[in-house]
Amino acid sequence: MKILNTIEALRSTREGLVGHVGLVPTMGALHEGHLSLVRMARAENDYVVVTIFVNPTQFGPNEDFNSYPRTLEHDIALLEQVGADFVFTPTPTMMYPDGFQTYVHVEQVTQGLEGGHRPGHFRGVTTVVLKLFNLVQPTVAYFGQKDAQQVVVIRRMVRDLNVPLKIQPVPTVREADGLALSSRNVYLSDEERSAATVLHRALQHAADLYERGERHPNVLRDAMLTLLASEPLAQVDYVSVAHPMTLNELTEPTDSPMLLSLTVQVGKPRLLDNMLLPRELNTMDGLYRVLGNE
Ligand code: AMP
Repeated sequence: MKILNTIEALRSTREGLVGHVGLVPTMGALHEGHLSLVRMARAENDYVVVTIFVNPTQFGPNEDFNSYPRTLEHDIALLEQVGADFVFTPTPTMMYPDGFQTYVHVEQVTQGLEGGHRPGHFRGVTTVVLKLFNLVQPTVAYFGQKDAQQVVVIRRMVRDLNVPLKIQPVPTVREADGLALSSRNVYLSDEERSAATVLHRALQHAADLYERGERHPNVLRDAMLTLLASEPLAQVDYVSVAHPMTLNELTEPTDSPMLLSLTVQVGKPRLLDNMLLPRELNTMDGLYRVLGNE
């Protein structure tokens, strides 16, 4: 495995690669969730490029850019074990040199959910991801369903701007008790760690109601809110039942797929999770199938 820590090193390496290239963009502090993306990329491509970059433009002024966990040596050891070929580790100045002033703005699907609570977040995400696409020129780029809105936004950008690659969503990897793996889980105390299972419990509760025939988005939303309210350490940011492609909030009963999402602060971190309904869609190609090939 080769570490590439300049744009020039990445470009000259890329020029020599013939065959399918899988890209896994990350912010480091790697865990099994990231590794499942890398394993999938490994299985499907001739070369696997992982990028580790804590992207300043996607953090708001009061967010955790400075304190975001950085564990580069450990990350590199993990990536070596799962067989990545290249790790690209640029610095903020390399990605945003003096005079930088061009950003990508995806208009509608960035407005709700995370976009509504983190102004400018997706502008930072789409800009850095498009830069990484231009640098790495991958055949396929892998993104976790854990950040479902991110998948929807990036896929929209790729279609709208004719970026020649495939976006592959990968199912959320969870702890045994349902908590979605996240680099920010390290912020949780023991007590908060137990409380954090409330996110998955709320999603499961709504999914159980759905399986018993409930189709009203308002009922599903309220059921999640009630369950979340039972956990004193959880402070709800938002709970959403939305159309999985437009991300518009649903208000009428429907038999079409729904995307349940929630963001909850437990102690220091804001934790997010989501689930597609029907539940069978939370599989390898579920989100991909739901998003369709329009
Ligand atoms: P991050 O380093 O948090 O920017 O995440 C990098 C990629 O890993 C994103 O595509 C995330 O959606 C994905 N990811 C993060 N956590 C998980 C998880 N628990 N399961 C699957 N993918 C994940």
